[in-house]
Amino acid sequence: MKKDIHPPYGPARITCVCGAVFETGSTKKEMRVEICSRCHPFYTGTQRTVETHGRADRFRKKYGIK
Ligand SMILES: [Zn+2]
Repeated sequence: MKKDIHPPYGPARITCVCGAVFETGSTKKEMRVEICSRCHPFYTGTQRTVETHGRADRFRKKYGIK
């Protein structure tokens, strides 16, 4: 059995370009994103592009941010 193919899973910090920082769990310790729940149109009330909306949804599903 291969036991070393999975990178260690631990706390991670996601930094958004808007300046927001989220603590989550991931195999990576630090990540940078271009959109987050704080700058997401659903939270800001600002209309953005459909593409941005979809990317945010995938991001939130992937990292379990509600
Ligand atoms: Zn953001």
